[in-house]
Amino acid sequence: MKTNYRRCISCRKIGLKQEFWRIVRVFPSGQVQLNEGMGRSAYICPQTECLSAAQKKNRLGRSLHASVPETLYQVLWQRLAQSNPHSSNLTGTT
Ligand SMILES: [Zn+2]
Repeated sequence: MKTNYRRCISCRKIGLKQEFWRIVRVFPSGQVQLNEGMGRSAYICPQTECLSAAQKKNRLGRSLHASVPETLYQVLWQRLAQSNPHSSNLTGTT
């Protein structure tokens, strides 16, 4: 069993791979997507601060050398809202 450590692109915290969201620039299409696919990856904490900083400063885009679509950020914000019981339930419940 090997332990995989990763670093958040926003706060630079180091943690286990599974603690982070993984954003992948898929090879060879160059499409940026979440979790799945082979290609260049960036990791980010599932936290408001880190997501906000990554979006404002385009840290994801710079880390991946690709443009990150607005929709990807929207998916991440939705995930955050769903995983955080204190946030508003704009996305509703399922
Ligand atoms: Zn972070």
